Amino acid sequence: MDVMGVPERSRTARVRLRLAAWWEANARDLPWRFGRATPWGILVSEVMSQQTQMSRVVPYWTAWMERWPDAAALAAAPKSDVIGAWGRLGYPRRALRLQECARVVAGACGDELPRTYDALVALPGVGDYTASAVMSFAYGERIAVVDTNIRRVLSRVFAGEESRGGAASAAERALAAAVLPGDDGSDGAGSDDDDDVPRDVSRDSGDVPHDVSRDGSRIPSVMWNQSVMELGALVCTAKNPLCGHCPVRDDCAFLAAGRPGLGERRTRPRQRFRGTDRQVRGIVLDALRGLPAASEQSAGRASVLERATVETLWKDHAQLDRCVASLDEDGLIEILPGGAIRLPR
Ligand code: SF4
Repeated sequence: MDVMGVPERSRTARVRLRLAAWWEANARDLPWRFGRATPWGILVSEVMSQQTQMSRVVPYWTAWMERWPDAAALAAAPKSDVIGAWGRLGYPRRALRLQECARVVAGACGDELPRTYDALVALPGVGDYTASAVMSFAYGERIAVVDTNIRRVLSRVFAGEESRGGAASAAERALAAAVLPGDDGSDGAGSDDDDDVPRDVSRDSGDVPHDVSRDGSRIPSVMWNQSVMELGALVCTAKNPLCGHCPVRDDCAFLAAGRPGLGERRTRPRQRFRGTDRQVRGIVLDALRGLPAASEQSAGRASVLERATVETLWKDHAQLDRCVASLDEDGLIEILPGGAIRLPR
């Protein structure tokens, strides 16, 4: 099938074609897609989506971008408003990191998001995945984007193996690079003779998008990245992939092998949520978010949670105090004399 770990070209071409057709018909109409968002808006969507399903992110992203449409606006916002607007997206330290990033972009970068991978990955809170996603989705640059969904789909389709989570391996990164289309009309890495490419690889030629060549060689890398990721989110899910409805099922090595090890993970199962410090931290932050935002405080309404009120939030006061202290250490709240707390200003 494959030579030296490089997927066979004809199979790669079929997968590209079918995924591109599927993308055109099934891509979700998310507000940051299809050229409707600025590069900054795309970065915000990627940061918000890191631990949260994209469908849940939409209302938060929409309200956020209306309120702070660019980095300069976010940079100038009170921290308490930023934490409040993050709402239930989870892992609220991301909100503060995003504001730190906005301050660098608004200041050192003249309110323009950098256009190179190296400059992006140097920004606060921006790692390899986010920098790659912005380079591809915002700027259309040819770069392999490697997130959990993409790793799972590529590993299943081309290697016939379950992707078991944890950090991306060198082999997974090499596979993502090998199957990435070339934006210059070439096939990207891993090519062999054109003669291997079937002329009629689509089940229904009417499905082929207008900007896609019949051998799949001119599928833009950005469409490839987005369609693989979308397939992982909607069809090739971790525990219950819908193989019967999958556009690439005829070329999927994992399905052909009987889906060995489906759903197995290298990492430990997720910690239960009830009773954890994460739950308690969320309860404390929710109580503070329920108070008037900094921008409303001129009306004289309280923004501080007194100690007596804090103690009503959770029965186990040792755990409560541990969580309050950790929120303070993370810069998400401030502890005042007497044990009252508030969102930072
Ligand atoms: S056939 Fe099944 S396992 Fe293979 S890519 Fe499609 S959904 Fe995933």
